[in-house]
Amino acid sequence: MKINPDKCVACGNCTYVCPMGAIYIDPARQRATINDDECVECYTCFNGLSQEHLPPTLVRLVRKTFAAMRIRFDPEPDVCPTAAFEPNDLVWPRVVRRAFSDPRVPHESTGVEGRGTEEVKTNDITGRVKLGEAGLTIELGRPGVGVRFHEIQEMCSALARVNVAFEKKNPITSLMTDVPTGTLREDILDEKVMSAIIEIKVTADRIEEIINVVRSVEKRISTVVAIGVGVRCDPDGEDRIVAPILERLGYNLERAKTNTGMGRVIPLTVEPEKELAKA
Ligand code: SF4
Ligand code: SF4
Repeated sequence: MKINPDKCVACGNCTYVCPMGAIYIDPARQRATINDDECVECYTCFNGLSQEHLPPTLVRLVRKTFAAMRIRFDPEPDVCPTAAFEPNDLVWPRVVRRAFSDPRVPHESTGVEGRGTEEVKTNDITGRVKLGEAGLTIELGRPGVGVRFHEIQEMCSALARVNVAFEKKNPITSLMTDVPTGTLREDILDEKVMSAIIEIKVTADRIEEIINVVRSVEKRISTVVAIGVGVRCDPDGEDRIVAPILERLGYNLERAKTNTGMGRVIPLTVEPEKELAKA
């Protein structure tokens, strides 16, 4: 994203909407400026502010004149009065920033649409996670913090060292040059994104081990990590296998989402990935 300095009147409205704190008013230039290295191309500034088309010279003159009389003239807080934002033509590798930070665009860089992960939302039809297994989502980064791919790399490498299987239909996995070692493309490692989700599946007896791996990596990286656990309920709608393990590890469990199977069940004799490819 960039701000056209010929249009910007330094009202400062955009500094409040950037979730990464990447926009500041440059006191020397008296223009809003974007810290390119911190900008994750989420487009919140461009899409979140109404764009008015007031003439910049006139707005500057009015603001200056009013300021001389100790009166402030500020536009409404949800407006860029001069439509000063101009999206860049994003090229590789910077394009991955937008793919992982603007939830409204498909993951063009990865080939996976939407937020980019199925997690276990479709488990009722794919049967990917079975009783006694857990689908783990390890989310790195958040608005206000973000995450660099070299930090995601550290987590992927640690998980690969304990031989976990990365979910194939996941944007992070699709950016790996070597899935068994969890190695991501070298050219994206310095890129920063709002957040990214690594997905793996493990048997219940490995959950404690994997959570300890995640916790140990979390201490070495400068972002936040959230773990989600997806399981298949038993015929009574209960989880008597994974939940007790998590409770023993000190987690207060909340059932966040329940999927009740609204889709066409894929026959268990067919490999889920092959069936989905045919759909
Ligand atoms: S909202 Fe528009 S005019 Fe105001 S500081 Fe930001 S870019 Fe400049
Ligand atoms: S695109 Fe997002 S991160 Fe970049 S300046 Fe705009 S709001 Fe901030």
